[in-house]
Amino acid sequence: MERTLVIIKPDALSKKIVGKVITTFEEEGFKIVAFKMVLLSREKAEEFYAEHKGKEFYEPLVNFMSSNPCVVMVLEGENIAQKVRDIAGNTDPQKAGEGTLRKLYAQDNRHNIVHAADSLESAEREVKFFFSENEIHHWEERIYKK
Ligand code: AMP
Repeated sequence: MERTLVIIKPDALSKKIVGKVITTFEEEGFKIVAFKMVLLSREKAEEFYAEHKGKEFYEPLVNFMSSNPCVVMVLEGENIAQKVRDIAGNTDPQKAGEGTLRKLYAQDNRHNIVHAADSLESAEREVKFFFSENEIHHWEERIYKK
């Protein structure tokens, strides 16, 4: 089963919309299989964004991502990486589609509420970056009365 990493970024914590972001994913029917809060060290943030090293936005991005805690989670489902990207919207909130998380809540292309892995390959790498296999839960969905 496909899985992907989502980071709810420090701006979402400050804006107190972590719950809204999670609700959005749950209302889409996405399955949360791992979840925690982390404060990235500078070194860890640098490592996570190593592919952007040298770009003009790299330093401020690393500063921002290590400035306050994030919530990280793993979602599982068919085509989940693409589905999460669709719900996140364009990196730049000005270009994000109506109803996307970034259109609704992001300030700019750095303070943009969520990180969503950009391919299946990066999703797998990013899941491993934050979670060990024993922190990822293989739970069964059941139907309960409302
Ligand atoms: P990505 O690896 O494509 O998800 O990019 C990582 C993060 O870098 C994005 O979520 C943005 O926060 C930031 N970023 C990407 N492009 C820009 C940009 N042109 N200016 C500022 N920040 C950016």
